[in-house]
This record gives sequence, C-alpha cells and structure tokens, in this order.
Amino acid sequence: MQPHRTESIAKLKESIVINKITQLLKTKKILVSDGAWGTCLMAKGLRAGECPELWNIERRSDVLDIAQSYINAGSDMIETNSFGGNSITLKGFGLDRRAEELNIAAAEISREAAGDSIVLGSIGPTGKMLITGDITKDEIYDVFSAQAAALEKGGADAIIIETMSDIEEAALAVKAAKDNTTLEIICTMGFDISAGGSYHTMMGVTPADFTNIIVDSGADIIGANCGNGIDDMTPIAKEIRRTSKNIPILIHANAGKPEYENGAISFPDSPSKMASAVVALIKAGTNIVGGCCGTTPEHIVAIKNIISDYDFTQ
Ligand SMILES: [Zn+2]
Repeated sequence: MQPHRTESIAKLKESIVINKITQLLKTKKILVSDGAWGTCLMAKGLRAGECPELWNIERRSDVLDIAQSYINAGSDMIETNSFGGNSITLKGFGLDRRAEELNIAAAEISREAAGDSIVLGSIGPTGKMLITGDITKDEIYDVFSAQAAALEKGGADAIIIETMSDIEEAALAVKAAKDNTTLEIICTMGFDISAGGSYHTMMGVTPADFTNIIVDSGADIIGANCGNGIDDMTPIAKEIRRTSKNIPILIHANAGKPEYENGAISFPDSPSKMASAVVALIKAGTNIVGGCCGTTPEHIVAIKNIISDYDFTQ
C-alpha cells in the first residue's frame, strides 16, 4: 500500500499547484509579458535612494497606473512592484518590519489592474553575497520564503525570481518559493557577454549550468532578464533550449545597452527596433517575451503586434 499512498499524495500536491501560465501556453503558443517598472517609476518621479516598494502604500495610484499601462498595452502577464521587497534590501531603508505589508500591497495593486490576466510576484536578489559570508543560506531561504508567501497572499498567480547572478541564491529562492506557496515559479538570471562571445552571469554561471541547476531546483519556467538588448538574448535562449527541450523560456530584454550622458542613463532601442528581433527570439525557443530596463508600454505594444501577426506554423 505504501507506494500507492505516496503516489496519491504526489498527485494531490500536483493538483493544488496552480499552473496558470503553462496551461495558457498550451493554447496561446507565445505569451507577452510586461516591460520595465523602474524606468516607469523614475518617469513618475522616483528618486535615487528612495524605496520603490514604499510607493505601494504612499503612491498607490501611480503604481496602479504603471500596472494598468502594461495591461492596456496587451501584456498577458504583469509583474508586481516588489523587486527589492525582501526584508534584507528593505532594511537598507529602515523598512524591513514592513516587508509583508509592502509585498501584499504590491500584489494587490497588480491584481487590481490585471483582472483575469496573470500577476507575477517579483523577487530580486538580496544584494548580499553567500560567498563572502555576508549572509547564510538559512537567512536567504527565510527572507525569500516570507516574501513569496506575502506575494501569494496579496493575489499573485506566479513568482518571478529575477536578475539573479549567484546560482546558489537563485536556487535557494526557487526552493523557498516552491516550499511556501502553491504558485508556478519562474527564475531568470542576468547574463553578460564575454570578449569571446560566450555568456555567463557576474558570478561565472553559463546559461547551460543555470538551466540544469534551476530546473532541478523545481522552477517551472526559466530564462534571462536585464543586462542585454534583445539581439544578445537570442543566443542565450538557444543555449537554454539546447540544454532543456521542454522547459518554457521567458526573456525580458533591456531596450539595448544603456548609454550614459551627463549622469543620465538612456536606452537606445526603440519599440520598432526591439519588435524587429522578436521572431528570431521565438525561433530560438522563447515562449514568453517581455522587457526589462528602458522598455515601456510602447515597446510592449510593438512586441504584441509582431506576435499577433506571426504565423507559428512557419
Ligand atoms: Zn533590467
């Protein structure tokens, strides 16, 4: 009887996990995600040194406006304003005790804008390094457990762990989110291109290493975000797809490489420039396309138009 019992528990567990995105991918082949949040918050007046997550309480209507702008642009899924919402990052603003409140509010705002569309609860890195002993594995696991649980409580449909560079931190975040929510887990890292043309994170992780380790950690969807424009994301998607045939791939590319002038950052890729590279990204194996730094609702409209017109039987 024992094997039978184990099997039925596994089945039960599977049935309570909400697989909204992977279900939707069965009917809608390619999904469109959202664009940058930081870029939009800055456009609304967020200053350097200010805590973006505090806006979920103090500037709620501005955050709702950003969420709404991506839904209006045609995003099938939008993120939450909680990238730095782990209690370690919030401690830098003296707001660690408000972590749960700020994450719940982040998810509630995006839920309100999204309606039936999907809400991805955003989790970014702690900014502390395991390798230098700045933080322990248990601390990382605990802060991400609490953040993921609060995002689910506020109404997120999935968790997106993003802009990771340390594979160990990423794997701990995936495990924490998996253990403490019933949600689908997405994990993306930021990869840089080397002089030799290969890709790796700041900590030396290749897209193939990342794929093997993070799929084993239990992520449902994986990919890359930030660091690159869309052209440089295509080889990364190819390498992930070569390593795993079936895992859904999400890519959030920047609007090109940042340019610095008079202390201001700008991103060169226009919506049409970015949209022109979307078909190559899909052919490389990408299932979900959105944007990172420098992208706006206009970029998402252009990406959505290309995807709507694309003949997937080609
Ligand atoms: Zn970015």
